[in-house]
Amino acid sequence: MTTTTKTLAAGTVIPRPAKKQNDLNGIRLARERRTMTAMVRIFCRDKHGARAGLCCECEAFLAYADVRLERCRFGEAKPTCANCPVHCYQRERREQARDVMRYAGPRMLWEHPVMSLRHWLDGFRKAPQL
Ligand code: SF4
Ligand SMILES: [Zn+2]
Repeated sequence: MTTTTKTLAAGTVIPRPAKKQNDLNGIRLARERRTMTAMVRIFCRDKHGARAGLCCECEAFLAYADVRLERCRFGEAKPTCANCPVHCYQRERREQARDVMRYAGPRMLWEHPVMSLRHWLDGFRKAPQL
């Protein structure tokens, strides 16, 4: 009996398809990134006393947020994370994001009014159907 199934030689590595990565230089994602960075800076400065740059904890949080943005399934059409039906953040990171937003959100109005307005407008975006 013949078969068309081929057996792979032992040790053969089957390459996995690369994970989709968004370009963070796109208009929407770049804006989201700037906004998140500004919020974390305000939070870290006031809560952790960082004078220049960020403390290790906030640095790690921002790096995590960047990875989420790079892998966001909505890409340039993303809603704000607060209005996302998926919520890809780990529970702990999500709570961290909530703390940052709660504290820095109102202060953004004074420190970065234009960015704050754009973020508010982005809040009306609906997540596209996947
Ligand atoms: S929470 Fe939603 S919008 Fe935010 S990065 Fe994750 S999938 Fe994208
Ligand atoms: Zn900090």
